[in-house]
Amino acid sequence: MRRTRVWAGLLGLQRVVVEDVQIGSEDEIVVAVRPIWRQRDRCGVCERRSPGFDQGDGRRRWRALDLGTTLAFVEADAARVTCRRHGVVVCAVPWARHTSRFTRAFEDQTAWLAVNTSKSAVAELMRVAWRTVGAICERVCDEACQEVDLLSGLRRIGIDEISHRKGQRYLTVVVDHDTGRLVWAAAGRDRKTVEWFLDELGEERCKQIELVSCDMASWIAGPVADRLPDAVRCVDPFHVVMLVTDALDEVRRDVWNEARKTGDIVLARDLKGARYALWKNPENLTGRQQAKLSQVQHTNRRLYRAYLLKEQLRQIYRLPADAAITLLDDWIAWARRCRLPSFVKLARTITAQRAGIVAAIEHGLSNECLSHCTSW
Ligand SMILES: [Zn+2]
Repeated sequence: MRRTRVWAGLLGLQRVVVEDVQIGSEDEIVVAVRPIWRQRDRCGVCERRSPGFDQGDGRRRWRALDLGTTLAFVEADAARVTCRRHGVVVCAVPWARHTSRFTRAFEDQTAWLAVNTSKSAVAELMRVAWRTVGAICERVCDEACQEVDLLSGLRRIGIDEISHRKGQRYLTVVVDHDTGRLVWAAAGRDRKTVEWFLDELGEERCKQIELVSCDMASWIAGPVADRLPDAVRCVDPFHVVMLVTDALDEVRRDVWNEARKTGDIVLARDLKGARYALWKNPENLTGRQQAKLSQVQHTNRRLYRAYLLKEQLRQIYRLPADAAITLLDDWIAWARRCRLPSFVKLARTITAQRAGIVAAIEHGLSNECLSHCTSW
């Protein structure tokens, strides 16, 4: 009796009876359960008790939180009931949300990570596909919205987009900077979606918002400026770092294409291999990548200049505010006359967004976003 409760506790399962624990064919741990009596025969949608229909597809598995380094699954029957309102549906189970293949505890952790770390980190740590993370975020948020009013008491928020299902679908998400929690999500990335959020927030609560961080896109910045006129708008550091990384990549591609055209096969091959060395933060470079980088320094001054420009802009998020702003202005001056078209263009964008970038530095948003930035 006590041992079964330990298993339920380890996997974060409540209101279940643990029937059996086994090691599966791929060394995964499989915990067979059934809902306690009170939780049985309930509609998966409304949880109303309903008459049984059939055994559904038989046994089903839900991915649970890993136990140490071992994958774990919850296994149970997936019987169906006939609900008065919803017809024939799979029964509700206390350990998972309807239609999910993951346990609640697993989904809650994934959603938290999606908001607080980089997307590659979530997918890698939780061992799921990135598109699965998007689906999980939607489910967690839908449920949370029904239970408590997540939009009350918001002061500092971030509005962002995340891609979902291999980039074919986008979600607009809103994060509470004070708690790090996802408070709103909806399909779409356009002005209408942002306005929908602001409608739900309502006029009174809009007035309470002191700070909004977002990227430079007008579909967010436009409605934010219209409806939250008193809020400080910060440019999310993550997006600045992303833009500078893109500018660097453009230079690398140009140089590479030129090398190929002039038949310099050795240089072309070297440049291709240098991609990651140029991208990564210098403190994370392997010995081989460091060697690549110093090779670039000697063989291609244009590309190395682009690299230094990227690094300097990234540095502004690691310095105290005063020094950071000075460095930002130095960067703009340098980028303007660097004769690298992608950086000259970026200098114009950064100049136009300077107020928002400075606001992010002054309000310390750079620290919160550093976990994003370091993945680049
Ligand atoms: Zn129902």
